[in-house]
Amino acid sequence: MAVTFNSRLADYVTHRKDGISMNEELPLELRLSRLTVQSLRNLCDTHDVEGYSNLVKDHLVDHMLESIDSEVLEDFCEAQEEIYFVENMAKAIKWSASKKIVHLEPDSDETIVNATFSLRRSDGYEVYNIRFVNQTTDDIATSCECQEAREKRYFCPHQMAVLVRCFGEGLFDVDDWTGPMTNEAEDLIAANVLRKKRR
Ligand SMILES: [Zn+2]
Repeated sequence: MAVTFNSRLADYVTHRKDGISMNEELPLELRLSRLTVQSLRNLCDTHDVEGYSNLVKDHLVDHMLESIDSEVLEDFCEAQEEIYFVENMAKAIKWSASKKIVHLEPDSDETIVNATFSLRRSDGYEVYNIRFVNQTTDDIATSCECQEAREKRYFCPHQMAVLVRCFGEGLFDVDDWTGPMTNEAEDLIAANVLRKKRR
């Protein structure tokens, strides 16, 4: 009944001001190039690919696209994307509990959410504006100003933190959320954020 989370992650594209469609599938090349060189090399090693060890990342990605079956590459990306999602969701759940880190504009509702994420780091503050539009329909547009979202097209941890706050405040329901989600992340949210409300 639930949409399989793998395809939901892979197909998801964060909305950008230049108007990229939300449902556009991310190219395999981008999905590979946003992973670490080490993880790419590990896959090459597992699949007995030759001549990869001295390649810079762009060439490594090209070489993998030529040498390894695309289904294998897609499965690999999906697995890595799930890890990214769950690891960052665990951080996001922690951040979402702090009103200093996640600020929701008071007029946010189920159709539009405006939020600010600010986290103090050793070298200053990391501050991003986050926006969700129409998140209860199939045409969700979400954005964050960070590089992970803009350049790597991830549903980044800042957006996750805002999402978790929205669930916590009852702005909308987990079941209504049609954006990216994994079963494991949903379990984390249920255990850490929604537990009190459900009792
Ligand atoms: Zn972000």
